[in-house]
Amino acid sequence: MTNVMKDYFLDLDDAAKDPARKVAWCTSVGPAEILRAMGFDVFFPENHGAMLGATRVCMDTIPVANANGYSPEICSYLTSDVGAYMKGITPLTKAFGIEQVPRPDVLVYNTNQCKDVMHWFEYYATEFDCPIFGIHPPTNVPGIRQEYIDDVARQFEELIAFLEPIIGAPMDPVKLKETVGRSLKATNLWSDVLNMAQATPSPMTFFDATIYMGPIVVLRGTQIAVDYYQDLLTELKQKVGDKHAAVKQEGKRIYWDGMPVWGRLRALSNTFDENNACVVASTYCNSWIFADFDPSDPLPSMAKAYIKIFINRNDQYKEDYIETMVRDFNVDGVVFLAARTCPNNSNAYYNLPKKLRDKGIPTIIIDGDLCDLRCYSDEQATTLIEAFLETI
Ligand code: SF4
Repeated sequence: MTNVMKDYFLDLDDAAKDPARKVAWCTSVGPAEILRAMGFDVFFPENHGAMLGATRVCMDTIPVANANGYSPEICSYLTSDVGAYMKGITPLTKAFGIEQVPRPDVLVYNTNQCKDVMHWFEYYATEFDCPIFGIHPPTNVPGIRQEYIDDVARQFEELIAFLEPIIGAPMDPVKLKETVGRSLKATNLWSDVLNMAQATPSPMTFFDATIYMGPIVVLRGTQIAVDYYQDLLTELKQKVGDKHAAVKQEGKRIYWDGMPVWGRLRALSNTFDENNACVVASTYCNSWIFADFDPSDPLPSMAKAYIKIFINRNDQYKEDYIETMVRDFNVDGVVFLAARTCPNNSNAYYNLPKKLRDKGIPTIIIDGDLCDLRCYSDEQATTLIEAFLETI
């Protein structure tokens, strides 16, 4: 895993220094397949935000963004990343000896997840005087209608026409099919990997999966991601066969909804472990399962897959989805992380936890954040989790 991510970032660093190569920045559930098929090297600022969170470097960079006009109430991936840019630092330096993130030749975002990404990328478009293209799909949809797919597929066609003069070549339809095909393989393998946690005891936890998910976010469309998840799946199957338990005394099985608290992965993992509970599944890690990709129909199938994501659906869909996960993973209770700076990916605010409780599924809500640890209390979270585990 370390080598996969290291090679990815070193190669991106090379791409940024090579005038013959072009770097595109893309949102985490943006159309990476189009960019890769056209030959762009792709960087994902949200992944950088997560690195800033996990290394807690963000606690030095968020205040810089706040001081420069970005509210502490907005996406802390954004403020972590923009603050890091303003401060001229990146965790890539300590991790891989890379001086700075690769400068973009083009910026592509998709508002299927939220509109913060639009403000975020627009900042860099101005800063780097760089071309920018936004995909604006229908949002918060109950179901997927054909006109939604047609709309987004047309936007993808416009994106391709926009990118061709930047990369200096037309889209090769064969390459697009191949790239979508590799994305489909990787995402199906990622789904199989996550489903290994249906075993009792589970061979992995949500906290492991937040690390394993790196390649499905940043390397979709590459053979590296396919090979990585094939190896990981083989290893996990072996662990299931050996009855290897990620949590030695797996008593309770928990579902995690919402963002990870990146700066507290270890502490939270220990809290559940010490209380004999395994967080076996999550909304977050499942967000990169795109079963609808179809290499024989690349753009419409990508449109469908990227509209269909959990964060872009209505409340009824989310309730049904979590209920299904609770059943399939034999879950005893659901933890909702109410992330202060990401209401888009926090599902605790509109009665969903209570609706699940009314159906006999125990739930709790933990206040916190993905990156900004000023919004998170270790003591409160630990007390809540321990009390919750005792009651269930
Ligand atoms: S979904 Fe939340 S964490 Fe992700 S970019 Fe949008 S506001 Fe930030």
